Amino acid sequence: MQDHLKSRNQQKIMMNVSKPSDNECWEWLGQISNSGYGRILLKDDLGNKMHSAHRASYELFVGEIGKDDIIMQSCGNRLCINPSHLVKKTT
Ligand SMILES: [Zn+2]
Repeated sequence: MQDHLKSRNQQKIMMNVSKPSDNECWEWLGQISNSGYGRILLKDDLGNKMHSAHRASYELFVGEIGKDDIIMQSCGNRLCINPSHLVKKTT
């Protein structure tokens, strides 16, 4: 992803979150999917695409995710997108 898109997407994510502190859960305040996870429309090199908020947070603030990797919240809060609460399970 190009740098200007990455910083734009990081800002867009942070506008949709309540962030009491670095250590607590960052509660998603935007759209929520039927499965109970946050979702957000983000633009990448290929155009606009709907993303899971926690997966997008991991990709933008931590690192790349493989197509089959699963991102889980270590705190158990489905709406949390704090990068330090997100764990990657590689299949
Ligand atoms: Zn959390």
